[in-house]
Amino acid sequence: MIDLPPLFVSRMKRLLGEGEFAAFQEALRSRPQIGLRVNALKISAQDFAARSPFALEPVPWCPAGFRVVDGSRPGKHPYHAAGLYYLQEPSAMTPAEVLAPRPGERVLDLAAAPGGKTTHLASLMRNEGLLIANDVQPKRVHEMTNNLDRWGARNISVLVEQPRRLAERLGAFFDRVLLDAPCSGEGMFRKDYSARKTWTPNHVARCARIQAGLIHTAARLVRPGGYLLYSTCTFAPEEDEGTIGQFLEKHPEFGVVPLEAKHGFEHARPEWADAPPAVAGALRLWPHKIPGEGHFIALLRRRDDTLPATLPALRPAPPKGEMRALYDRFVEETMRREPALRSRLAVFGNRLYALPEGLPDLKGLRVERFGWWLGTFKTGRFEPAHSLALAIEAEDAVERVNFAADDPDARRYLHREPLPSPGPDGWVLVTVDGFPLGWAKRVQGTLKSRAPRWLGRV
Ligand code: SAM
Repeated sequence: MIDLPPLFVSRMKRLLGEGEFAAFQEALRSRPQIGLRVNALKISAQDFAARSPFALEPVPWCPAGFRVVDGSRPGKHPYHAAGLYYLQEPSAMTPAEVLAPRPGERVLDLAAAPGGKTTHLASLMRNEGLLIANDVQPKRVHEMTNNLDRWGARNISVLVEQPRRLAERLGAFFDRVLLDAPCSGEGMFRKDYSARKTWTPNHVARCARIQAGLIHTAARLVRPGGYLLYSTCTFAPEEDEGTIGQFLEKHPEFGVVPLEAKHGFEHARPEWADAPPAVAGALRLWPHKIPGEGHFIALLRRRDDTLPATLPALRPAPPKGEMRALYDRFVEETMRREPALRSRLAVFGNRLYALPEGLPDLKGLRVERFGWWLGTFKTGRFEPAHSLALAIEAEDAVERVNFAADDPDARRYLHREPLPSPGPDGWVLVTVDGFPLGWAKRVQGTLKSRAPRWLGRV
């Protein structure tokens, strides 16, 4: 085990006092919490709990959240591949609950990869409205698109942009913005030893500087009357109360929305960072007070009355000519109903998307996904995307093959092994206990898995 950094220890002793520090240190020596959050787009928390292969305890602050208490590894289960849940420790379930997006709103997750909180926001939005997930790191965005594909939401666009460029291009457009900021990660010391290794006081100071820039930019993207949620997974006052205090000084148009300290959460400590008293309305989550890792959450509301940005919508570009014929043939042969409204279809390159409601023109921005990716036009055919399979109902597909979760063929399918399967040639939706898992192509009685390669590795 790597020891806690001595300067971290002395700072936390000074802040907490010897007595509370002992409890805090004890908590950091215990095992990290394993949690999962159920995907309400696919199954209710109650129904999942009733069929769960793992022993679960509810997370009091998140109706879809559970702790896994029997030491099992839910990441390896086919239900994970079917997007029935996301693995997330309990404290990380608070930001989206507190930001509380509503169906139909415009929501931005500014530092979103690998997409944990985006999946939570998506479930709360119930496929209605616009959710933009952005991150600057292409590799992490790649991992995020895999996670979002599995989640099966239909209203997410994914960007890989510098926040500053988003603010310049989109302005005060969003009802709610989440800034889950890059931070020194002290709250993950129990879970992730690499955070202990990279920690230095200079790293904390560097993170605080980055956060000051990011929150300033995030604020420009919030419409008047809209909300900005700032979260970190660190205990460092400079990055928590300090960042919010300095932000409020420069942005009188924002105020802290006081949050209730229930479930063992505690109010923030403005006095630790010379911040204004209103910062006490934010929350600190301590691993010695709740069954979760360390977190900080501040909800801010923009209260000036400048006008929100109105932006031209991205115009749908439905498939034409041969593309249209190929897509029509696919829908007719494979689907019992149209997956998406024709009026929302848009072709970019050789990919077909269904655009989220209210998606603005994204010209000049680096787009990874315009919306729900339905499939790709290849020579003489339309090939359905994994994200299409994972966001439809099993009954929507004409040909289906179902495996029980404990049937070894479910895993064979995920590892792309061919399986015998009588029936007509063509696209088949593979399901696990009735939940879509991916596509396969049946050719002369053999099911050829089209599960993405990354799925077999998870
Ligand atoms: N919200 C994510 C989740 O729940 O899965 C975790 C986000 S992680 C705490 C912070 C993210 O900020 C990282 O993915 C990192 O790539 C991103 N990041 C770092 N610098 C950034 C910047 N200048 N602009 C946008 N994102 C940035």
